Amino acid sequence: MSDTYENERTFEPLPPAQGRGFATSWWGMAWLKALEDTALDGQQLKQGRRLARIGAVGAVTVRPGRITAVVRDRDGSQYRGDVLLQELDEDDWDRFLTMAAERAGHIAALLDREMPPHLVEDAASAGVELLPGIGDLEPKCTCDAWDHCPHTAALCYQVARLLDQDPFVLLLLRGRAERPLLDALQERGSLPKGDPATASHGVPAEEAFAARDIVPPLPQPPPLPPEPGGPARLDTETAPEPGVDPSALEFLAADAAARAHRMLAEALAPRHEVQPWAAELTEDHDTVRLVALGPDARVAARLGAASGRRPAELATAVRAWRLGGVASLRALEEEWTPHPEVLARALTQLDGAWPEGERPALRAASGNRWTVTGRDVQLRLGHDGRWWPYRKDRGRWSPAGPADRDPAAALEATTAPAGD
Ligand SMILES: [Zn+2]
Repeated sequence: MSDTYENERTFEPLPPAQGRGFATSWWGMAWLKALEDTALDGQQLKQGRRLARIGAVGAVTVRPGRITAVVRDRDGSQYRGDVLLQELDEDDWDRFLTMAAERAGHIAALLDREMPPHLVEDAASAGVELLPGIGDLEPKCTCDAWDHCPHTAALCYQVARLLDQDPFVLLLLRGRAERPLLDALQERGSLPKGDPATASHGVPAEEAFAARDIVPPLPQPPPLPPEPGGPARLDTETAPEPGVDPSALEFLAADAAARAHRMLAEALAPRHEVQPWAAELTEDHDTVRLVALGPDARVAARLGAASGRRPAELATAVRAWRLGGVASLRALEEEWTPHPEVLARALTQLDGAWPEGERPALRAASGNRWTVTGRDVQLRLGHDGRWWPYRKDRGRWSPAGPADRDPAAALEATTAPAGD
């Protein structure tokens, strides 16, 4: 890549675009819309898209007012295609800089190679159109077509991919290179001294939230990514505000992404078995769930303190959660009295679960709990009719295995060696 001070940047040819669109950012899509609204002949666009897809576009040069590339046609002949876009004049830039200098979030977003919709809107209210509209992308090609030809269309598609990665490409095309632009902003006092590229301010939440109405709608149905997205890295060079714990936020963001991913998978391909996480969680249960995910020691300690449980109690609760989520936690912590009909059914189950003569002697310990006489093991009836095996461990009842519809099968788990 060329120097960001230069008024000319050249981008090496991009690899063929496999199985993806040419723009994923909203501004890249807006760029393509300007092309597609402008071109009269859909066939030319289609051919252009194909050329761009197979990697027929050579190195792309971006200059104020002009993008250029040599495009190899399918018969092997080469054409030089140019696409012209009007530069902003001095007054436009002045208004743009004044507007941008007032909104630190805009600059920070640009430095993160993002273009917030509000930046474009604010620029427009200052009378500065950043994105091209219909008719603004003017084609010129050595094939002598008078409208967009496959070559200029291919060039536009390729530039959409460049724009996706770096909105400064658009600003250069409009007349200003990245560094002179940032220098001008610094002069206006809107950037800290030093290398602005290392200062990350992020996008104000308010701005990101407001952008939801402007960005294109999600495709329907939403595609399921192969795995949840990773959280943003928050350990920047800027010290966090007092009371903000970046590693805890990263942990929560990763968990939110993982849950969203599972919920989307569930919504797209519903299974009959409801996952434990899908049940409504109390704050208390959610705390146990988060500890069970295994956060780092500091986050775990904070969660432990918030849970109000002593460490041993919390460890038991985590063990219960891992064996069966909310239902398992409730079996650990709730004693309840079954309705007489439920109780009768449970007693029938307990009577018939073992072969003649092998039934252990059971003693009702409380409403939903039966202890095996002479052994420190217990069966607990869950609200869903399943049986949970428990074992007394250093004076504390602790879950011994997963639930089972069959009390005898559930009790089997208590004969397995203890351990976490
Ligand atoms: Zn052409």
